[in-house]
Amino acid sequence: MVIVEKGPPELRLALEPLPGHVGGPQVCEACRRHLSGSALGFFRHPVGSRETHLRYLVLCQDTEACASRAEPERLREILLRGILT
Ligand SMILES: [Zn+2]
Repeated sequence: MVIVEKGPPELRLALEPLPGHVGGPQVCEACRRHLSGSALGFFRHPVGSRETHLRYLVLCQDTEACASRAEPERLREILLRGILT
């Protein structure tokens, strides 16, 4: 999943999916829907310029549907949290 905000300057944040599912039902941190663990997965992204600092999120496995349902404000929040230190 890649969150892009048209610039200038263009901002983008790539969220890397991790293997496996989430253990139980949870709320997706992007679209905020309540889903079963099998529909959710863990994703991570680096924070700021330090590649050793990672942030983990629980998001829908179906990232395209998730991004279309999520409020733009919420996606922007996730994006900024990855870019700012
Ligand atoms: Zn979602």
